[in-house]
Amino acid sequence: MFTHNKRLQYTVRVSETNPGLANLMLEQFGGPQGELAAACRYFSQYLAEDDPGRKDMLIDIATEELSHLEVIGTIVAMLNKGAKGHVAEGTQAQAEFYREITGAGNDSHVTQVLYGGGVAFTNSGGVPWTAAYIDTIGDPTCDLRSNIAAEARAKIIYERLINCTDDPGVKEALGFLMTREISHQQSFEKALYSIHQNFPPGKLPGMPEFANVYFKMSEGEGAQRGPWNKEPAFEVRPAQPGVDGGDGLAQVKVSPQDLSVLEAAAQRLKSDMASDPVTGAMLGSNGNAMAAGAQGAAVQEKKTHAEHAKGPRTQ
Ligand code: MN
Ligand code: MN
Repeated sequence: MFTHNKRLQYTVRVSETNPGLANLMLEQFGGPQGELAAACRYFSQYLAEDDPGRKDMLIDIATEELSHLEVIGTIVAMLNKGAKGHVAEGTQAQAEFYREITGAGNDSHVTQVLYGGGVAFTNSGGVPWTAAYIDTIGDPTCDLRSNIAAEARAKIIYERLINCTDDPGVKEALGFLMTREISHQQSFEKALYSIHQNFPPGKLPGMPEFANVYFKMSEGEGAQRGPWNKEPAFEVRPAQPGVDGGDGLAQVKVSPQDLSVLEAAAQRLKSDMASDPVTGAMLGSNGNAMAAGAQGAAVQEKKTHAEHAKGPRTQ
């Protein structure tokens, strides 16, 4: 069960209203790295977790993320207080109101006109929150790695938001939320590495002949050797088809009935390689575009013939 304490986890002191800043803060309310996504991510993992220690950690952190959602949502609501009154009561001249809600230079007019200065489950660009932000797959070694990355991203978004404001109270509350993501990242790392069999994820080992190979799949200048492809951890091999020793071609066994149907379809859809069909584009261009192309090709061909007649080119 959940209970609620009417006090916030961290005191929110906002010096002055600012609808543009409120809108930026929505990034951590309804955005992909935001607190709702974090709370739902850990809550979904908590429900299915069988390890009692991890289960306990996941519900503690999920519940803390809901408390963060309340803090960041309260910051948005406080920053919007002025605009909320103006939207509701129509107290200003039209031009002045227009300037207030659009002057911030971001999407705050959406928050003001559509949501009445309230707190919407969108990101700062107005994109609605989606459960697709949660990538729980039910394997703790995968989910904990994803949680570590999610906490790292949330920390960076808070850092960027801190750089967007000089309001000391907002800065301080954001600093607390940012710091908690550092703490969560450490808990998830400890939880991951306290699982002895944490790599590779799952139960099946990789194919030993490929598990520590670095395939050099790109060509040209700028090739580098780094810790990610150096001996003794890695063996670098050039790009090569059929690394299994086979011909690298795909095969499948099909029934004789399926084979005759597939052959009939292939016959019906065969290209006539000798054709040069007239197309709608050729007809619609009044002969101009394609004709110019064809003339160009004809001129090119004549030149080539002439050059051949003259014998080998000299330069
Ligand atoms: Mn958080
Ligand atoms: Mn967190």
